[in-house]
Amino acid sequence: MHNRDAVFLEDLCPKLQDRRWRKSLHKFTGQSCIYCGKKSESIDHINPLSKGGVSITNNCVPACLSCNGSKSDSEVFFWYRNQRFYDPRRAMAIRAWIEGDLRLGIRLLQWAKPKNNSRDGNLDKHSKNNDFDVKAA
Ligand SMILES: [Zn+2]
Repeated sequence: MHNRDAVFLEDLCPKLQDRRWRKSLHKFTGQSCIYCGKKSESIDHINPLSKGGVSITNNCVPACLSCNGSKSDSEVFFWYRNQRFYDPRRAMAIRAWIEGDLRLGIRLLQWAKPKNNSRDGNLDKHSKNNDFDVKAA
């Protein structure tokens, strides 16, 4: 009964659906900015709304406020290449994301992420990658 209520509520309340969708985007990148890797606090439209971009997953990426504000209405790759934190692996990830291959995009992002724990045989630490459904095959 609760489930049916929830669906009903979502239909009535698109904002709730929107919030869930945004949350799921942040989850994809582990709550980190797709451009610089800092904490993602916003959703950036790759193709800005002002230029006809739409709010669909392929056009929306988790971004920190700094990147979101700095990019503004610029063409994403043009802007990104000029950033100090530019990382070609992230650029590839963004490309994959736009093309709808989120799995590849996420894999590239994980690759780009600096590893704090490079030592093998540390049994205390369980792999944090288990949080992701996507695993490198
Ligand atoms: Zn950022």
